[in-house]
Amino acid sequence: MIEQIREKARELLESGELDVVIGYAEGSDPTRTTPIFCRKPEDTDKLVLDGRCVNTLPAYLNKRHEYPKKGWKKTGIIGKGCDIRAITQLIAENQLKRDEVYIFGAECEGVVAHPEKWDGSLHEGNCASKCSACDVKIPLDTDFYPGEKPEVDRSGPYMVSAPALATLVKMDDEDRFAFWRDDFDRCFKCYACREVCPHCSCNICITDRTMPSWVDQAAHTKGVFGWHLTRAMHLVGRCTGCGECTRACPVNIQVDLFNQKMKEVIQESFDYKSGYSMEVKPPLITYNTDDQETYIR
Ligand code: SF4
Ligand code: SF4
Ligand code: SF4
Repeated sequence: MIEQIREKARELLESGELDVVIGYAEGSDPTRTTPIFCRKPEDTDKLVLDGRCVNTLPAYLNKRHEYPKKGWKKTGIIGKGCDIRAITQLIAENQLKRDEVYIFGAECEGVVAHPEKWDGSLHEGNCASKCSACDVKIPLDTDFYPGEKPEVDRSGPYMVSAPALATLVKMDDEDRFAFWRDDFDRCFKCYACREVCPHCSCNICITDRTMPSWVDQAAHTKGVFGWHLTRAMHLVGRCTGCGECTRACPVNIQVDLFNQKMKEVIQESFDYKSGYSMEVKPPLITYNTDDQETYIR
């Protein structure tokens, strides 16, 4: 599978059709891979694709990053199904044009929850929770797919698979608030959760603005709650469930639980699943006169 992708990537870099191919290469130790930007055809020999490829590479396609500023006209990117969902959402939000990107996709068996859990294979004990209910193992839109792509029924509800979310939803308000207060006590506002997110797309994040200062910048309880609630609201109907915010958090806060719950709410309220259509806009960036207002109480 990866051999076919390497071959195609090499061919497109040689012909000049692509300026760069973003993929994964071996990392600093055998449990890790690292993102690689292949500029020369021979760089493609380094490409790998397996259960260690955890990073959500479409974060690099987000316009707040360096890549669009380099003047590259067309970027190739290797995507797992959930990554391609992120690309789909970036296109739906006009962050990216479809013809600026060439998508290499392949069937995905899942990824490890965290590199340190990699023991040479994927299994129940180390697989990321997002993979258990995944309906994009066969990816959506691809320009290159090794072999024939089977049809998949994706009409079901959005995957919301973290067992921790079910536990959280069952708690009463007081316990749930205590859960978040305890977790947020550890947050020191490093913003890793923002930096890895393919959909945090503002050039200057609202939390970094100081004139005026919208979100208290200190990492105390008020500042941290302000940051996380703002972040969660900015991603409503846009998060595509890659789980990178949680994986990247150095103090193990399950930041994406907010976003997972919001996905359920948006689907119930607007029949919308982020990352499944390049044409349909997220409900909170559009307006219809018959929109429900049941959330106003
Ligand atoms: S969520 Fe699906 S596409 Fe993404 S890594 Fe897991 S199995 Fe693969
Ligand atoms: S990555 Fe973790 S510690 Fe850093 S800002 Fe996000 S939640 Fe806080
Ligand atoms: S909010 Fe978290 S899970 Fe959602 S797209 Fe951003 S990084 Fe991924």
